[in-house]
Amino acid sequence: MKSLKTDSRNKDRHVPQRSCAVCRAKSDKGDLIRLVKSPEGKIVIDTTKKLPGRGVYICPDLECVERAKKSGILAHALKAEIDENFWPELEEHVKDFGVNVKLKIRSVLGLARKAGALMIGSERIEAEHKKTLVILAKDSSDGVKKFAASRQSISLDMTIKELSDVTGLRDSVQILGLPLNSGFAKKIISITEERSNAFER
Ligand SMILES: [Zn+2]
Repeated sequence: MKSLKTDSRNKDRHVPQRSCAVCRAKSDKGDLIRLVKSPEGKIVIDTTKKLPGRGVYICPDLECVERAKKSGILAHALKAEIDENFWPELEEHVKDFGVNVKLKIRSVLGLARKAGALMIGSERIEAEHKKTLVILAKDSSDGVKKFAASRQSISLDMTIKELSDVTGLRDSVQILGLPLNSGFAKKIISITEERSNAFER
């Protein structure tokens, strides 16, 4: 039996966890936005996540940004001033995080395709007789939606065009499948769970 290539980075991975200064939810460090106090005493977004000094973390979630704005918690935590440009910049940064989710998903789907684990189209999914995680284009037909309804599916907010691009096919791809027990499916699920908030924008 051909063994499926799985994403080994998922196993025993030690990723430092941090809490959002606003909602206190814990996430991988890389999944939060780091804010630091600049030498001038202002709060800045640490896009490199390497700036020296005391930092706080916030979820890439506009709700946490809004709460931070109202409560003044960031200025208080860092004992720093907030520039008028800071909030619009932070909001932009949060929105970019949502875009990055799509990039991550594309990369996982691309790897799955290369490994031969990606099932393209409902016929192929049907033929595999495996427990499948299906990924449905948001603009797919009613028939395909119905097909997906009887399976474990995940909505990735991707269009037929985007799914087709991922598969590298010219045909319009309305649905993709991944073996539910594969590393690829697990990775997709974990990406969407981590960032479900960033997605709803
Ligand atoms: Zn938060």
